[in-house]
Amino acid sequence: MAASWELCVDFTFCYRVGVRGRVIIVGCDVAGLAVALFLKRAGYEPIVYDRGRDPRQVPAGLVALTPNGLEVLRTLGLAAAVRVLGQASRRIVLHGQSGERLGEVAGDSLLVGRRDLLGVLRSAACRADVPMEFGVSFTGAESRHHDVLVHFAGRPVTAAHLLLGCDGRWSDVRALVDRDAAPPRFSGVMGCSGFARLPGLDHADGQLHVTFGQYGCFVYQVLTNGDVFWYQTAAAPDPDSRHRPSAVWRARLAELHAGDPAPIADLVRATEWIDRNAIYTTPSLRSWHRGRICLVGFAAHGTGEYSAHGVSMELEDAITLADSLRRNDSVPEAFSGYHRIRHPRAGRVLGQAVGAGLAIAPLDQLGQLVRRIRLPAVVGAAVAETARTYRHRISWDACP
Ligand SMILES: Cc1cc2nc3c(=O)[nH]c(=O)nc-3n(C[C@H](O)[C@H](O)[C@H](O)COP(=O)(O)OP(=O)(O)OC[C@H]3O[C@@H](n4cnc5c(N)ncnc54)[C@H](O)[C@@H]3O)c2cc1C
Repeated sequence: MAASWELCVDFTFCYRVGVRGRVIIVGCDVAGLAVALFLKRAGYEPIVYDRGRDPRQVPAGLVALTPNGLEVLRTLGLAAAVRVLGQASRRIVLHGQSGERLGEVAGDSLLVGRRDLLGVLRSAACRADVPMEFGVSFTGAESRHHDVLVHFAGRPVTAAHLLLGCDGRWSDVRALVDRDAAPPRFSGVMGCSGFARLPGLDHADGQLHVTFGQYGCFVYQVLTNGDVFWYQTAAAPDPDSRHRPSAVWRARLAELHAGDPAPIADLVRATEWIDRNAIYTTPSLRSWHRGRICLVGFAAHGTGEYSAHGVSMELEDAITLADSLRRNDSVPEAFSGYHRIRHPRAGRVLGQAVGAGLAIAPLDQLGQLVRRIRLPAVVGAAVAETARTYRHRISWDACP
């Protein structure tokens, strides 16, 4: 078997590689594109593969880009292009169950269409001559001393200097890095989102409202076109319940938020299509790298599942990994350096979201009472931690 791989290895890379070698990136989403752009700058030859057949098929909806993530985009020269497509959230205002104000986080975040963000990153990759191939499924790899052999379904084996797994929650590359990694587990939480329009609520003020409601957390912002974007999390029995019709979810969420302050339940009732996404807990890995293979973004950590920090964390991973690689000639040292920096930060951001236990509320009365009493202190701590997360900056220019 090994001999036949050797025979069909695509050796064309030997004369096509840049100064620092070819890097195969699995996954053409935020993590894959951002790391490709930084690696290109660092003198590598990244090539990005995605199993998605149609590059235009990107999940719709908005994602939040926090100031730390916007700063990474600024380093790539893309912040302005993304900003014009998004909606600024100048402050996050946090409310308790009765609508009382619990705190606020100032900071220039952005709500941006996932499609728009990917469009900007892909255009930048085209301009930087980063090849992107769609409809190509990664199936396996062997890391060797001097290179890594990468297998794609129905293609000859390809050799590369490095393999980066930017392949998301259900990463296939992950198993090569940590064979004992458990698969992601359903967390018991469903994330729902939608757009609505309500009379009297059509003036954009750049505020993102977060309410820790009776049974779930509800987030909304009035957009400049008068629509209201909302996102909520609440307990759900199983991941497949997301397949229930939108109308069933509308009725369930309206009931769930009936006791929460206005305009929450009205927003739910005024929403035609409710998007549902089951939230999973990604396993904690012993390491994010093995040999010449390394994980980036969602494949490495599940911060994006629980918080609005996912995309920004992916961008931070990308710049940190590329920076570590350009500073270190030794691949193990470069990967270890990246892991040393990113692992604790991902843990803190995840802990901030999960540990606070704010996404869902207990259903029983005693649990609810305890949550209500704890909420101001927990929110106070979360506000301070979020502000710290926002201030995080990663320098690229200062490197050799
Ligand atoms: C409902 C929901 C709302 C969210 N909201 C926010 C938000 O407001 N703010 C925020 O920052 N984050 C948010 N996130 C998280 C954010 O979407 C993720 O953090 C981000 O998408 C992860 O990017 P990624 O590039 O690491 O992986 P992904 O986006 O998962 O991309 C992985 C890519 O790899 C490809 N792939 C997978 N396996 C293979 C294979 N074997 N071969 C080839 N290609 C493969 C896939 O086709 C995919 O394109 C949200 C997530 C969800 C589910």
